[in-house]
Amino acid sequence: MTRTSHDYRSLLAQAGHFLDEATGAVTPPIHLSVTYARDGDYAPISEYFYTRYGNPSFTPVESLLARLDNGAAAMLFASGLAGMAALVELVQSGQHIVAPEVMYFGAQAWIKRIARTRNIGLTLYNQSQPGALEAAIRHGETAMVWVETPVNPTWEVIDIAAAAKAAHQAGAVLTVDSTVAPGVSQRPLDHGADYVFHSSTKYLNGHSDILGGVVVARETNARWYELEEVRRYSGGVMGPFEAWLLLRGMRTLAVRWDAVCANAMAVAEHFRSHPKIERVAYPGLPDDPGHAVAVQQMTGGFGGMLSLLLKGGYEAANTVARSTAMFIPATSLGGVESLIEHRAVVESPDSMTPGNLVRLSCGIEAAADLIADLEQALERV
Ligand SMILES: *Cc1c(COP(=O)(O)O)cnc(C)c1O
Repeated sequence: MTRTSHDYRSLLAQAGHFLDEATGAVTPPIHLSVTYARDGDYAPISEYFYTRYGNPSFTPVESLLARLDNGAAAMLFASGLAGMAALVELVQSGQHIVAPEVMYFGAQAWIKRIARTRNIGLTLYNQSQPGALEAAIRHGETAMVWVETPVNPTWEVIDIAAAAKAAHQAGAVLTVDSTVAPGVSQRPLDHGADYVFHSSTKYLNGHSDILGGVVVARETNARWYELEEVRRYSGGVMGPFEAWLLLRGMRTLAVRWDAVCANAMAVAEHFRSHPKIERVAYPGLPDDPGHAVAVQQMTGGFGGMLSLLLKGGYEAANTVARSTAMFIPATSLGGVESLIEHRAVVESPDSMTPGNLVRLSCGIEAAADLIADLEQALERV
């Protein structure tokens, strides 16, 4: 990034802003080269050496992501879970991890596996019970506290500042999965988190066409260099083409975010008092249990994710998820197209997700079309 900007909207719109002196091209090239030559004195010509160590197409994306989250540095990974696995790699045998009972199920499955195979202690806390996170932390033993907020797919809101305080008092680091609330709204590092993690597959890219992950750190300390080593030698690097597409996707992040926030709010308000719906889970609703904390830490909007809990239980949820025409019945979230999912079907049998829950990822379509689509699906219940 050669330009400076004080507003994240301008920063994003001009992401990777580029003017090639030779051709006048206004978008950056993709650096596909895996390896980088040395000069006549056998010194490296640039900071690049081999793409598993870093690539010129990563650099503008990583610096943009670091600025968006107010961090010291960012690191791209091949997928969200590759980034998460690298973070968990920082925890040693005999230490302890604290993670939520309900969180992105793949991330939890990996933490459980690592805990089992590496003799790492693991306590899962009930994220909707005040004080449960604090009670799960073991002074001097807990190395990492994991928070996901809002919690997928129930959308409870965790107080990041309180979690940071509790983690730090015990000598642990706090990692926040902020995938569903990118830095245009929520900046966990500003509230005391040590790492913020995003699956860039979701809002950051926004077009459901690349996998990717990013870890942003508050400080570039010894642990950060260890994380670089993990990426370099475990090999979970993003491809240059994916990095380029991610940068392109991020140019429209601010406007996409505004559109999905408005759509989710319209859907939540419309269905909150629907006779077939027990509850709408969305932190943007003023009477949502997470609203007060969300106002403090989601300052740029409450996002595009919400869940409908149906009075008719599992069967009703399943019918709605199979009956929409505009909401596509598919997993994932954060794209320009709206998606619907009956989570109980796709999660593992021991998942804590209520059977009557359908998760919605609102895209950027017209709100009235999304509402009409859900209305007609509910008529089949
Ligand atoms: C999708 C997702 C992940 C995993 O990311 P991948 O890019 O699919 O590996 C982790 N956390 C949350 C909240 C997610 O939505």
